Amino acid sequence: MIDDTAADAAASGAVGGVLDPEHPQGTFVLEPGVMAPLVARIATSEGSGTHRSMCPFTGAPLVTFPVSSADDVAASVVRARVAQRTWARLPVRDRAGVLQRLGRIVLERQSEALDLIQLETGKSRRAAFEEIADIAQVARHYAVRGERYLASRRVGGMVPLLAGVQVHRRPVGVVGAISPWNYPLVLALSEALPALLAGNAVVLKPDPQTTLTALWAAEALDDAGLPAGLFQVVAGGPDAGEALIEHVDHVAFTGSTATGRKVAARAGERLIGATLELGGKNALYVAEDVDVDAVVPGIVRACFSNAGQLCVSVERLVVHEAIADEFVAKFVRAVRNLRLSPALDYSADIGSLTSAAQLDKVTAHVDDALARGARVLAGGVHRADVGPYFYAPTVLDDVPAQAVVAREETFGPVVTITRVDCDEDAVTVINDTPYGLHAAVWSRDVPRARRVAARIETGSVAINDGYTMTWGSVSAPIGGWKASGLGGRHGAASITGLTRQQTVVTSRGTRIGATLDNLYGLGGDTPSRVLTTALGVMRKLRMS
Ligand code: NAD
Repeated sequence: MIDDTAADAAASGAVGGVLDPEHPQGTFVLEPGVMAPLVARIATSEGSGTHRSMCPFTGAPLVTFPVSSADDVAASVVRARVAQRTWARLPVRDRAGVLQRLGRIVLERQSEALDLIQLETGKSRRAAFEEIADIAQVARHYAVRGERYLASRRVGGMVPLLAGVQVHRRPVGVVGAISPWNYPLVLALSEALPALLAGNAVVLKPDPQTTLTALWAAEALDDAGLPAGLFQVVAGGPDAGEALIEHVDHVAFTGSTATGRKVAARAGERLIGATLELGGKNALYVAEDVDVDAVVPGIVRACFSNAGQLCVSVERLVVHEAIADEFVAKFVRAVRNLRLSPALDYSADIGSLTSAAQLDKVTAHVDDALARGARVLAGGVHRADVGPYFYAPTVLDDVPAQAVVAREETFGPVVTITRVDCDEDAVTVINDTPYGLHAAVWSRDVPRARRVAARIETGSVAINDGYTMTWGSVSAPIGGWKASGLGGRHGAASITGLTRQQTVVTSRGTRIGATLDNLYGLGGDTPSRVLTTALGVMRKLRMS
């Protein structure tokens, strides 16, 4: 299967993983002609060291590339700063043109990007395609709406007619983006595109495992006409990330809550802005009025897309006990039917976990739950027969509250079942977590579902959907509450977070100062009486 799909990919002009027949599961080897120009984009100098990433489908080496030293990172920010000054002076419309072209490029060259994303993350092609669709949509959204988001506003002045007040949005300068490996194209670009549109430059530090996809994004922006220096990729792990925070004007961080706290602390010391998109322990409530057969496929997808390695993935199912037996039986049957495969085509439902670390974490969470008395209804096993990091989609029941899987983010294909007997209890269970990223409510009674949503402590709530419509509604902000983050992305939120406000007040009466001096020159309480009368008139006329 791998052989055929690699050949198909090559025929369609894709990057083309080539199969190494020596390896039992096949080794995807990227063509040097594809790799070299990408790797050459890394901001690095002699002797900074190297990193070797592996292909999760096989566990075999994928690419070795140079990493960026702290000096390399600093030099990238300097280059970005120089380029940004000219870029910020261009009309928004010109900057929007780059985003329009980028959106087209991502759609046209999708097979290249899909191969790279799959080979670096081990995800299914369906999950990889979500990234293509997302970036095409985000690029178009900001290209079309950006000018409106950035428009200056006129507001009332201190003295009507005598003060002209404008509030402008100015770029912050250089944005440092730090991203994880789970959606490498989306997380390389979804903050970078509004940042660039707003007149900023961006220096991106992707996770080392998915550096090639980030470099592909840089190449695509280049081809879309972005001037040199405005989007650069530095390579490496935490050291490169820490170095980046030292030099940029704003940090847009996506990753775990533990790292997010460190990033926020350093950004706080430097007094730079930080947007933090962090972890979650998302819950989905199934009310008793649903049509079970109709809802099961969507709920399976909500839990297991991208093998659960998705920030808005559902890890806790909260099911009304009136339908729990029927729902759980049908849900488990559907989960057992999911197809796992390393195919570079659309035949797999679920791909691999991305790393040994992910496999270890998932295994540890499941083992801990079992040791505490939980029951496995589906999965619960490492699928080494499919690939080294594949794990069967897993459903756990009777999970005690103290189990790690009940409280901590697993970030894998594991979901727990909790039964409740009313909406009130469902809300209590859903909110019983330090996280507040995303939740979902499924009910035929939409007003009821909206009432439940209003009581849930998360930045987004999907009704009768898992996450697709919420993530894809790019005009609306999405971001975490509580330990899931600060700030938001999409819509106006990204522009607000990645710009600074500047108020410019033009006084139309150059003699106002002299008039006030003359007034105070009258002495006694005359000035305050005159000003009190003027303020009273303004109140009566409802002037603000
Ligand atoms: P992580 O926090 O370990 O790493 C994320 C990035 O931060 C990587 O590029 C890493 O190299 C870098 N980094 C690590 N330590 C750093 C430091 N001290 N200073 C600066 N940079 C540092 O995250 P992970 O575990 O690899 O990614 C998975 C996590 O990301 C999950 O918790 C998931 O929920 C979260 N996530 C959240 C969203 C969202 O939008 N809320 C989206 C995707 C993933």
